[in-house]
Amino acid sequence: MTFGAPAQAPDPLEVTAVAKMLIGGELVDAKSGKTMDVRNPANGEVVGDVPRGAAADVDAAVSAAAAAFPAWAALSGTKRAKLMHEAARKMHEVVDEVAKLLAQEQGKPLAHAKIEAARVAENLEYFAGLADKLRGDYIPLDDPAKFGITIRRPVGVVAAITPWNFPLTLMANKLCPALAAGCTVVLKPASTTPLATQRAIEAIASAGFPAGVINTVHGPGGEIGDTLVGHPKVAKIAFTGQTETGKRIMQLAAKNVTRVTLELGGSDPMIVADDADVRRATAAAAIGRFFNAGQACLAVKRIYLFEGIAQEFMTKLAERAQKEWKLGDQFATDTKMGPLHSEQQRSEVEAQVGDAVKRGARVLAGGKRPEGAEFAKGWFYPATVLADVPEDSRMATEEVFGPAVPVFIVKDLDEAITKANATVYGLGSSIFTRDMAKARRAAEQLDAGYTWVNDIQVAYDQLPFGGVKQSGYGKEHGIEALEGYLEKKSVVLASG
Ligand code: NDP
Repeated sequence: MTFGAPAQAPDPLEVTAVAKMLIGGELVDAKSGKTMDVRNPANGEVVGDVPRGAAADVDAAVSAAAAAFPAWAALSGTKRAKLMHEAARKMHEVVDEVAKLLAQEQGKPLAHAKIEAARVAENLEYFAGLADKLRGDYIPLDDPAKFGITIRRPVGVVAAITPWNFPLTLMANKLCPALAAGCTVVLKPASTTPLATQRAIEAIASAGFPAGVINTVHGPGGEIGDTLVGHPKVAKIAFTGQTETGKRIMQLAAKNVTRVTLELGGSDPMIVADDADVRRATAAAAIGRFFNAGQACLAVKRIYLFEGIAQEFMTKLAERAQKEWKLGDQFATDTKMGPLHSEQQRSEVEAQVGDAVKRGARVLAGGKRPEGAEFAKGWFYPATVLADVPEDSRMATEEVFGPAVPVFIVKDLDEAITKANATVYGLGSSIFTRDMAKARRAAEQLDAGYTWVNDIQVAYDQLPFGGVKQSGYGKEHGIEALEGYLEKKSVVLASG
């Protein structure tokens, strides 16, 4: 296949509510011919279908990626960058179409889906900018007739496995550094949100990537995951999802000593000191907890309040929950929060809230399903704030993956930090205070991959992102993301 002109280039204008898989430059069905329905969480209606891949399809995709790897790795960084910039342009062209698919299958408001679709193009541009800046080191050796250098080589075929909450962002976080580094990719999106990802990938591939550089497989993770993760030609697994799935992947990866980066669950603490700007803190808490209906890894999931501001904070946060986070259909222009993604997701949040309330928690906002015909068929749940939550209840000890947050009162920063760190997770964290000494202590002592001081929990392209403890391993975003896709090799040069 000639560079820049793949045979059977995917048509960027083809609408793929009935999607295919992209394997070796071809849009294909599952070898079995089986498909899976994709449904709208707001009303249960089928919005499209995708092939239900099996082990043979995974093998075909990995083999295509392995065949494409040597030429892609050998291509200059400048040429890879050029293709990625073109891919960003192609992605911009389909933002509206992709956003519509995403809103339909995921449930998030259309305006938020548009932001997410546009982020793919931004991410492509960020890593395109780095693709031609990869270089090694010169290391003088004791013997003056010799010297050492390091060169950076792409690791090989990357299996990228993504969840349903931010399907596009989390796909881009893996695809873009992989392509910039010179790796080829097999992407497996979540079974309930494959349509937007597939459409985005087709647009990206239409920039002219050689066949096999970017591939997709669809199918239940429980059925095809082991084949993909354990495939001997896969050199690296880039995974985002639940901590339990991540643990299983890490175990399976040991079989071939396959590299992994794991972006897993979180239970981010927010500390609000008595010298904080309470209005700003409640705005950050509300966005941090209710955006994407609370289905975010990086989200304010436990709030620790100093006594002096506790009452004011709780009243303001409850007001925001009730007045600002309007529930509704994802295509209504005034909707701030769509349905939860699945029935199981809503049941889980209801059970966590129910456990806290049964044990004495007070509901300050939300706390029960909304009434009305427009909510009858979907998995809606309102913005919920709870006080007096027992510290050993499920709300406090588990990840809550929905729009419900517990607030706790603490006497000082020592207690806040101790309680904030009392979790198996360590993804994000934040503190609101006007005291630089408190901010510094929080930054240094909170066990997390990120600490925001007086700011909303938003991840930046430029800053490395990744968890500690059971929130994961390895970084996405920033120049550091490339490290997961490159090997540093030492070379000794002696005169001949
Ligand atoms: P899952 O772990 O259930 O699924 C994630 C992906 O893994 C899906 O594509 C799924 O496929 C696939 N998968 C499932 N089982 C296997 C397996 N045995 N082998 C290989 N792949 C498998 O996570 P969710 O989709 O429920 O996502 C929510 C979780 O993701 C939350 O815990 C959240 O905190 C975390 N998350 C972490 C982020 C971070 O950056 N740290 C960011 C966003 C979310 P299928 O859909 O077919 O089952």
